Amino acid sequence: ATEQVIAQVAEGDEADVQLAVEAARKAFDTGDWPKMDARDRGMLLFRLADLIEKNIDEIAALETLDNGKPISDSRNVDLPLVIDCYRYYAGWADKNHGKTIPIRGNYHCYTRHEPLGVAGQIIPWNFPLLMQAWKWAPALAAGCTSVLKTAEQTPLSALRIGELAMEAGFPKGVVNIISGFGPTAGAALVKHPGVDKIAFTGHFETAQIIMKEAAKTIKRVTFELGGKSPNVIFADADLDAAVEGAYIGLYLNQGQCCCAGSRVFVEESIHDEFIEKMIAMAKDRKLGDPFDPSTEQGPQVDKDQFDKIMSFIQKGKDQGATCAMGGERAADNGYYIQPTLFTDVSDDMSIATDEIFGPVMSVLKFKDYNEAIERANSTFYGLAAAVWTRDVKKAHSFAAAVRAGTIWVNCYDVFDAAAPFGGYKMSGI
Ligand code: ADP
Repeated sequence: ATEQVIAQVAEGDEADVQLAVEAARKAFDTGDWPKMDARDRGMLLFRLADLIEKNIDEIAALETLDNGKPISDSRNVDLPLVIDCYRYYAGWADKNHGKTIPIRGNYHCYTRHEPLGVAGQIIPWNFPLLMQAWKWAPALAAGCTSVLKTAEQTPLSALRIGELAMEAGFPKGVVNIISGFGPTAGAALVKHPGVDKIAFTGHFETAQIIMKEAAKTIKRVTFELGGKSPNVIFADADLDAAVEGAYIGLYLNQGQCCCAGSRVFVEESIHDEFIEKMIAMAKDRKLGDPFDPSTEQGPQVDKDQFDKIMSFIQKGKDQGATCAMGGERAADNGYYIQPTLFTDVSDDMSIATDEIFGPVMSVLKFKDYNEAIERANSTFYGLAAAVWTRDVKKAHSFAAAVRAGTIWVNCYDVFDAAAPFGGYKMSGI
């Protein structure tokens, strides 16, 4: 927001990862954690959720300081989802049942759901606390221990949650947090033979490196990667609702969402009206100090991201798309980018194929249902999609035909701890 340094953070390296994994191993192999009643493990997660809730204003402020996202988002979107996630999985801790299986012969056959061991968890910077919750809550509820590496851009808020975990009473060694860079601390975690699994959220190219390295020790991996999600608006949709949904679906969090609806397909007959309404809505978007409660859009997370997004905008212009709104830096100081909208976008332009991770919407025109499905699917990603229509049959057939982990119908960015989140193809495992 100001381009000023806000803090210095100790850089964790391989030696720190070694200490953290040893602590997590010890807590798992010989500590109290796996012996604890599952319901008591759940109680600790409930207690952590309560402590976060008690300190919600402070933690939301820390998240905004760390990431630059508007305080109203941190306080009213991120933190409630974080708290809900811990509570949801706290309830699962004692509901993780095995089966009894009627096999041939005079035998008693059963399965037990056992915790895997030490979970290595590597998270990104776009939703720092929510990503920590998505990694911690299920692993801890299951009885695993954790070594979590935060993103180098956003090391602060997770450390505060670590303090609260200590206050809640998690046994020593159960949770460990490393601040550090990917190729050093992250890579050391992936390589370490004492880590049983890597759960990673980030770029698919990083996942490719991780998968290769994890293969050497046959680690399990789960990946939540990027997207170029199609948001398809049919002519029979409630247009005002669709405009609002597309607006939130792309501009939320400065466009830094893996499920951002970054390819907006609009049926030909309503295309111009859609653009008009979208510009009318987005031109009033309030950019500014992320600590101002009325701010709707903060700066991009850092200079690297800012530069990358600006170069995509330039490519969009160079490749012949029409920049119908924005397209420029929004302030002299701070990494602010105007809400940007491109029309006349064709499927092969880089603004239609690559994940931009910024406030840049590409609008593509289509003629009919079959064309919409085909073009929606013509991406190597498959994280999310949305469809806007009043025709129930069309909505459900779309949801079945589009290869994406989450399909929203007449809504966008509806998240719930109880709903799965993941992708096809290069969007993850
Ligand atoms: P993003 O584009 O979201 O920054 P990255 O994949 O670069 O995506 O980063 C996501 C997380 O992965 C961060 O915590 C980062 O430090 C970590 N990371 C980056 N490179 C590696 C690597 N080679 N090994 C392990 N972790 C890495």
